[in-house]
Amino acid sequence: MSNIFDNRPAVHAEAHKPGGMFAARSTSEWQQLDAAHHLHPFSDMGSLNKQGSRVITRADGVFLWDSEGNKIIDGMAGLWCVNVGYGRKDLADAAYKQICELPFYNTFFKTTHPPVIELSKLLAEVTPAGFEHFFYCNSGSEGNDTVLRVVHQYWAVMGKPAKKHIVSRKNGYHGSTIAGGSLGGMGYMHEQMPLQVPGIVHIDQPYWYGDAGEMSPAEFGLKCARQLEEKILELGADNVAAFIGEPFQGAGGVIFPPESYWPEIQRICRKYDVLLCADEVIGGFGRTGEWFAHQHFGFEPDTMTLAKGLTSGYVPMGAVAIHKRIAEPLIAGGDFNHGLTYSGHPVAAAVAVANIRALRDEGIIDRVRTETGPYFQKALREGLAASPLVGAIDGTGLVAGIQLTEDKASRKRFANGYEIGLKCRDHCFGNNLIMRATGDRMLLSPPLVISRPEIDLLVEKAVKCIGLTAIDLGMA
Ligand SMILES: *Cc1c(COP(=O)(O)O)cnc(C)c1O
Repeated sequence: MSNIFDNRPAVHAEAHKPGGMFAARSTSEWQQLDAAHHLHPFSDMGSLNKQGSRVITRADGVFLWDSEGNKIIDGMAGLWCVNVGYGRKDLADAAYKQICELPFYNTFFKTTHPPVIELSKLLAEVTPAGFEHFFYCNSGSEGNDTVLRVVHQYWAVMGKPAKKHIVSRKNGYHGSTIAGGSLGGMGYMHEQMPLQVPGIVHIDQPYWYGDAGEMSPAEFGLKCARQLEEKILELGADNVAAFIGEPFQGAGGVIFPPESYWPEIQRICRKYDVLLCADEVIGGFGRTGEWFAHQHFGFEPDTMTLAKGLTSGYVPMGAVAIHKRIAEPLIAGGDFNHGLTYSGHPVAAAVAVANIRALRDEGIIDRVRTETGPYFQKALREGLAASPLVGAIDGTGLVAGIQLTEDKASRKRFANGYEIGLKCRDHCFGNNLIMRATGDRMLLSPPLVISRPEIDLLVEKAVKCIGLTAIDLGMA
């Protein structure tokens, strides 16, 4: 196999022992210690502790290894983040050198440092025209907290402090801080949040397969977008600050809106002077084959929330890109009373610079757009065309949402779709494939450096596991 990625230097060249720099323990010992002391995110710890977690010990390229020596293909790029793939020595070197040079200094009190300056310059180059200012944090959730602060401060300096409401969407995901969880539209999260951030209202998601009935995608896209207009009129345009949405919904199931949706959302936002905030945490840094997913959908946001692919997950970092039409009044408006100790952390910034240079200088994103993305989408659609269990596939570039269905012709969804998704995920687990289940949708989002032979392997395993699920259900 020869492609431009074959020369990626493996960090793992040194002899490997399970546990890496830590003690080599048996799988059961690790599982027992994990159960004894570690609380996992979004997990039912009681049942997980009985079952035992899978222990992932190392990774390279698009593959993971577990403590039992299984080699697993990572169809989710970690958690939608390892865009440049695992084992990049240039990112490791950037972190090491920066830790030696200046591991930390704050940017609060009239100080700055070269890594955050270089990162900001580079982001201004790779983001669309008009994005020239960047605020840093440590995660996507903090990024969306920051978006709220930016939006409110913007309207305050513009002399319209009554513009406070934010419109968001049901089944959207914007993170898990109180603000992120409130902005998101996940009912199961809201249930455990008795106090949410006030002033956030949710409209329907543009989920054509599940919700459109007899409407065409184009009609349905407009109908969903016009809910924004209805909501603005209901609240009064003078009271609405912003609309926030993921260009395509990630955690909600890789739901791609109909083509008519985003242009209509943009028209409504401009008409009523409501800011348009794109949560690009998953869509950013090449996932769709464009640098940012809004470019694929053809709209122009006022802010972009960035995280995940910003550092390819090698270290935590988030950011908010602010269009100059928002940033300039904000800058002229005096103190902005927001910041995090690690805003613009030098090590994270150094890794982000190495990561973005790799994405740009190695043509990784161009290759997703012109070569590997189309190849992946075609292979997946061909491989699953005959499956009675697959109703539709959403996606472009290197992201896909596979809709499981009880009946293809009528788009009937399973009453117990959640269980069927988990059943399919269990088959993936057993076949050394990482494919995520969200309800009755199976999700793929591999590292952007995946090669054609690796795509063949990924698709072959996905088709096999969906086939095994169909057999379980007596459908095949
Ligand atoms: C993951 C995600 C977030 C939250 O990012 P964290 O780093 O987990 O806080 C926010 N928005 C979207 C669209 C995401 O996918």
